[in-house]
Amino acid sequence: MTESVKTKLKKYHMYINGEWVGSTSGEYFPSYNPATGEPWCYVAKGTAEDVDLAVKAAHQAFLNSEWSTMTYTERGRLVRRLGELIAERVEELAQFETLDNGKLIREMRGQLKYLPEFFYYYAGLADKIHGETLPIDKKDMFVFTSREPLGVVAAITPWNSPLYLTTLKLAPALVAGNTIVIKPSEMTSASLLELVKLVEEAGFPPGVVNVVTGFGMPVGDSLTSHPLVRRVAFTGGAESARHVVRNSAENFAKVTLELGGKSPNIVFDDADPDNAAMGIIAGIFGASGQSCVAGSRAFLHVDIYDKVMERLIDRVSKIKVGDPLQDETEMGPLATQAQLERVERYVAIGLEDGGKIAYGGKKPEHLTKGWYFEPTIFEHTDHASRITKEEIFGPVLSIIPFKSEEEVIQLANSTDYGLAAGIWVKDIAKAHRVAKAVRAGIVWVNTYRSISPIAPIGGSGLSGYGRESGYEAIHEYTQSKVVWINT
Ligand code: NAD
Repeated sequence: MTESVKTKLKKYHMYINGEWVGSTSGEYFPSYNPATGEPWCYVAKGTAEDVDLAVKAAHQAFLNSEWSTMTYTERGRLVRRLGELIAERVEELAQFETLDNGKLIREMRGQLKYLPEFFYYYAGLADKIHGETLPIDKKDMFVFTSREPLGVVAAITPWNSPLYLTTLKLAPALVAGNTIVIKPSEMTSASLLELVKLVEEAGFPPGVVNVVTGFGMPVGDSLTSHPLVRRVAFTGGAESARHVVRNSAENFAKVTLELGGKSPNIVFDDADPDNAAMGIIAGIFGASGQSCVAGSRAFLHVDIYDKVMERLIDRVSKIKVGDPLQDETEMGPLATQAQLERVERYVAIGLEDGGKIAYGGKKPEHLTKGWYFEPTIFEHTDHASRITKEEIFGPVLSIIPFKSEEEVIQLANSTDYGLAAGIWVKDIAKAHRVAKAVRAGIVWVNTYRSISPIAPIGGSGLSGYGRESGYEAIHEYTQSKVVWINT
């Protein structure tokens, strides 16, 4: 790309205290389009100084602004208004997300069409955040609790679903009365900055919502260790999460971690093979496998193995890989060159460990530009390979046969992750037993990837801790105060 074209690309500023500002570094960095591998915009390269300005603005807004004296109902109305504005701009926001992360335009449209529901759900909860009176065992005492906001929230997000993962933090944090500083992934900042224009239009007071763009070091690091931050909501990988948790030793911020997974899809012999195959495909090849809940391991009962495999290969061979902006495309590129190289490394490891490729395994021949990889299916005879235990975050599915319920529960639980699981079965008692036994924060039976603002999301082990979405998120963004009155 020539210098003259580079200078024509859009430059994004950051949003601090209600103003669009450049970074104190004066620098910008490129954001790439995964379908071409070329930069398509530039983003301000934030510094620790920018973080300090943003956190102080958020702290000020929390303590001493129109926001701090607003009623819960008024805050709820603003959050609802933001949802309505997003609903009007779905197409535009979807285009920004696809340009930045290469996910299918039709997938982004679907996700963003549903996004306002999260704002409406939390707006509806705004005036239902309340405490209770306590029947204390002491005469003359009147005791009650209230739920109070925490203060400045630091939200850190990855690149795979930028606006959805921001919304899970932004909407409950705001209705609970907190203020927020958001650091989007350095790879996908644009859609959030476009959304913040709607925050402005909705009428949120300055300092309530702030965005500092840039890299994990120094922006994410200085944000999560800032002494005025009281709450950190992190979504991303385990390595970065370890830094975040260490940083919380500085400010004692309350932390939630939404990390990765190695989620199983378990298919019992009485399952409908067509539904199971379609669910497995949607679970792993949606978003080219770059999804925290990707169902990257499929356990097939030996008596249904061939039927499901036949359907999987038939459907996967028809997946149209290509330009994510085209409506007919079914699988787009990976988000970065590094991600593509990671997938290639894991495919080599899978082969070294004795896995057999049943489909795919390389870059598609017809796509010479961009970071594309074929949907790939490995067959394994056991669960010993690294690719059956480690998160790949790409379109690679591992198939493992099993003979009994006990065996498959033990296999499904033999990773350090615990985020999601799918069970394909007709026997309802078995569905309940396995749902209980499998280590996962989300279990889907005869479905996969269903979401709702009403249902919590989260995991255990290497998948993190704490919950987003649902009513539980209100508790994650508030704390109780108890008041004793001697009457
Ligand atoms: P990442 O950890 O590299 O980056 C996530 C965010 O953390 C980015 O904004 C990054 O700049 C920031 N960061 C990096 N180092 C930091 C530090 N030292 N301090 C503070 N912030 C820092 O992850 P990624 O590659 O962007 O995303 C992929 C990972 O995210 C995968 O493991 C995936 O499973 C996980 N993920 C989880 C969920 C979920 O809800 N559980 C959803 C999507 C993605």
